[in-house]
Amino acid sequence: MYDVLILGAGPAGLGAAIYAARAGLSLAVIDQSPISGGQVLNTYEVDNYLGLMGETGGGLSDKFRAHADKLGTEFITDEVKSVEDLGDKKVVRGYERDYEARALILATGAAHSKLGIPGEDRLSGMGVSYCATCDGAFFKNRITAVVGGGDVAVEDALFLSNICKKVYLIHRRDSLRAVKSLQERLFAKENVEILWDSEVTEIIGENAVEKITVYNKKKQQQTEVEINGIFIAVGIVPNTGLFENLVETDERGYIKAGEDCATSCRGIYAAGDIRLKPMRQIITAVADGANAVNSIQSEFE
Ligand code: NAP
Repeated sequence: MYDVLILGAGPAGLGAAIYAARAGLSLAVIDQSPISGGQVLNTYEVDNYLGLMGETGGGLSDKFRAHADKLGTEFITDEVKSVEDLGDKKVVRGYERDYEARALILATGAAHSKLGIPGEDRLSGMGVSYCATCDGAFFKNRITAVVGGGDVAVEDALFLSNICKKVYLIHRRDSLRAVKSLQERLFAKENVEILWDSEVTEIIGENAVEKITVYNKKKQQQTEVEINGIFIAVGIVPNTGLFENLVETDERGYIKAGEDCATSCRGIYAAGDIRLKPMRQIITAVADGANAVNSIQSEFE
């Protein structure tokens, strides 16, 4: 039986791992992917992680993983089927085998939200993408659209503007949610056109994306825009489906836990993007990992 099992090897899980290892706790990190990093792997450039300005998402993930490896962290590649609370013992049932621990840190992160419009699922992988850094290179000198107004949408549009002939950023309101520094960089791009107050209502194409219909809410006007690819960046949904009967969540599925990361179930902690909190960043995820371990140490005392 481990002292701590950490589910998820993104920044929250890896942050927890280095704190748990340094605290002398026995631990393992379980992730369905052998490559650590979570959503950071889909980020081209990370410009707001203290001390590592301009680092790539892949580079930062490698550094996080190397740090945990150096401290002797055990990594297990397995997909979790269910989690059970047996009081002083928590059981994690994986497809490979079962694991037991005195405490759990849930750090399974979040996944991309969908628009839920006609053509989105059918053309997924055929011009519809949720990851510009993964798929952007397929659209060299072509025309793409990014949907959304948050940090991810603006980062994606910036990334694509260096590859594509033209990029449309389509946002449902008249101002962006993204941090000002990203907005300024975006507004300076000559090949980016922003379609404000607009919603994509359909993605059209036979075997690949050919065009989209866009509805301008202010003008109450529908137009067709010819594009070759569309990148959807309309937020995230927490990967908490496995834990909904175990710990309290809000209506969107985020786990209710304060800064100490303690959930409604004793011995189970939530860290990173799955936790109900105002700011989801790499640095706040790492901080959650540290706080969760600190809470576990207090619980074990
Ligand atoms: P986000 O900040 O929640 O933004 C989602 C965007 O999509 C919003 O602009 C939202 O519009 C729009 N949207 C939501 N549902 C929509 C729909 N059905 N149709 C059209 N548009 C829709 O999500 P995110 O950009 O994926 O970022 C997720 C988290 O990661 C955030 O906390 C973000 O700060 C963080 N992050 C930080 C960095 C960084 O610091 N460099 C980088 C990446 C991500 P409204 O604005 O109208 O709500």
